[in-house]
Amino acid sequence: MNDLAQPVTELTGVGEALAAKLARLRVQTIADLLFHLPLRYQDRTRITPIGTLRAGMEGVVEGEVSAADVVKGRRRSLLVRLKDDSGIISLRFFHFSPAQQQQFQRGTHVRCFGEARAGATGLEIYHPEYRLIGTGEAPVEDHLTPIYPTTEGLTQPRLRGLIGQALKRLAEAPESLPDGIPEPLRERFRLPGLHECLRYLHEPPPDADLERLAEGRHPTQRRLALEELLAHQLSLRQVRLRIQADGAPALPSGRGLQARFVAQLPFSLTGAQQRVLDEIARDLETECPMLRLVQGDVGSGKTVVAAMAALAAIAGGCQAAVMAPTEILAEQHFRNFREWFAPLGIEVAWLAGKLKGKARLDTKAAIADGRAQVVVGTHALFQEDVHFQRLGLAIVDEQHRFGVHQRLALRQKGEAGGLTPHQLIMTATPIPRTLAMSAYADLDLSVIDELPPGRTPVQTVAVPDERRPEVVARIRNACAEGRQAYWVCTLIEESEALQCQAAEATRDALTEALPELAVGLVHGRMKAAEKAAVMAAFKSGELDLLVATTVIEVGVDVPNASLMIIENPERLGLSQLHQLRGRVGRGSTESFCVLLYHPPLSAHSRERLAVMRESTDGFRIAEKDLELRGPGEVLGTRQTGLAQMKIADLERDRDLLERVSPLARALLEEAPDASEPLIRRWLGDEAGRYGQV
Ligand code: ADP
Ligand code: MG
Repeated sequence: MNDLAQPVTELTGVGEALAAKLARLRVQTIADLLFHLPLRYQDRTRITPIGTLRAGMEGVVEGEVSAADVVKGRRRSLLVRLKDDSGIISLRFFHFSPAQQQQFQRGTHVRCFGEARAGATGLEIYHPEYRLIGTGEAPVEDHLTPIYPTTEGLTQPRLRGLIGQALKRLAEAPESLPDGIPEPLRERFRLPGLHECLRYLHEPPPDADLERLAEGRHPTQRRLALEELLAHQLSLRQVRLRIQADGAPALPSGRGLQARFVAQLPFSLTGAQQRVLDEIARDLETECPMLRLVQGDVGSGKTVVAAMAALAAIAGGCQAAVMAPTEILAEQHFRNFREWFAPLGIEVAWLAGKLKGKARLDTKAAIADGRAQVVVGTHALFQEDVHFQRLGLAIVDEQHRFGVHQRLALRQKGEAGGLTPHQLIMTATPIPRTLAMSAYADLDLSVIDELPPGRTPVQTVAVPDERRPEVVARIRNACAEGRQAYWVCTLIEESEALQCQAAEATRDALTEALPELAVGLVHGRMKAAEKAAVMAAFKSGELDLLVATTVIEVGVDVPNASLMIIENPERLGLSQLHQLRGRVGRGSTESFCVLLYHPPLSAHSRERLAVMRESTDGFRIAEKDLELRGPGEVLGTRQTGLAQMKIADLERDRDLLERVSPLARALLEEAPDASEPLIRRWLGDEAGRYGQV
């Protein structure tokens, strides 16, 4: 039987020991070998005249031994002089046996491969691969030589041999590895066939474009990258289908309650908020669980949108849960919702890890019997021991800490009646649409692309830290006018402890420099209750200046704060700086952000701080951030699963992203059975894990 799905041990010469090594490379089956692609290539298809070699060049040279001597330098070595018609070069061996020394008789013909470097005797090749040849022996390899990622104890020739066997089996039984993208689709999307690509990449012809291959932009590589992106997208769509397999409560009746809520707000909704609310309302009306991601720049007013959605759930006789990533944020949402909803007679409950004992039991009871109509909290909300009476809507703020698995897990929270709650996920990371469509293919996308009127954009300046006294004076002036300020200490190395110490030292220094001000401190190592107390004091105006670590990054809303100092901003990514800066400029007074950097700045840092000075547009900043840091960092791809891709590279292959969705749609429509094998091929166990949740 020739089945490429068989384990590698079916190949000649592969025992348990070798199989174990291959397993370290995530190669288990014969087909896996075919998808184990080269890192790079060597050109051993032609012989390079010795005289044309330059330091740093790699190639095959062939010549006659003119001398071979053991030389004593700093290290003893065997030096073999090799010449052809065009020049002479030295082969140098630091490790050699007497037998080896014997081989290199004067006049012997040697062919070798290696990298030339400038050595003591002119150009030298250290430890070349070589063999002795007879005259007139046929030249070299007929295709470029692949260099594979490998593991200890597995040589390149060995790996090449195994892949050669796999290619042979593929040639004998092409049908045993079906092309994941059916022919008609390949034609329409102008994609080369899978087998063709694999064969090309393992055995490129001598004239292959090495530069493109090295960049990963060869058409064959792009086809595989597209296929991988497609597989990811299909798996996310599968997640979506799985969530939507169960019904959700239809929530069509929110308008009355929402109108009463809007009437009591001190402002009217922006056009963008209204549009996004319409999109949400349309989703909620149906029995198909909503899966919607709302993107909106910091300060665009996502919380009100969340509140409106919650009202639709309540009007429909369901509960709504609001989850935030930190207790500070959750607490803030809780206050907002309670204030907004109390006049409407709606009961809002609070649940976080810190809630203990009887209070916790009482809250859980209120959630279970439906008295709590809105529940605000942290991850604690979705723990097993929390039962909802009838959860209709789950709202998740700041989605980048909330992955696919959690989305799937939410299904079970519908519990009674077997209904799945609608999901509304909100993020302030304004990633470009194509990227969002790939990373969050399981979600529909709404964008709040307008800020509430009357905001004056934050003025940003970059100041070197030797001008710290000026900055301190600036805080004094702002606070004297009744404003408040943040002082943000950024991460020193990856140590939270050090960061907190630094923040404490800064608080002490500022307290001394500004004796007339009330200075507070909040950092990640404080107890939740302490943090909450400090935040509340800042919000109420008791504190003038808040020294904080980056814990205030997300969502904190204190409109009277109009000045933010960010110390060592060069340590942070642009998107993070943008989030931080979004804490000011929330009221109508002019706000300022001072980037207090430590000179000298690298060119790269200078460029980033310039972006911050010039722009307050989250989308532009995100684009720039992507350019400078790559999508992995910006998206926090750990949760999206896009980080572990084998071939595709979100940055390099960005133009492919646009082709993925149409291809996925076409495939699901025209060849739905092709989806599962593709997911399995590229995501393997990963896909299995999604399934188990
Ligand atoms: P984010 O999108 O960053 O979560 P918030 O929901 O915290 O933003 O809103 C920021 C501030 O803007 C809050 O003080 C909120 O009350 C206010 N706000 C929200 N919508 C509007 C609006 N349409 N007009 C004026 N202010 C608004
Ligand atoms: Mg927010």
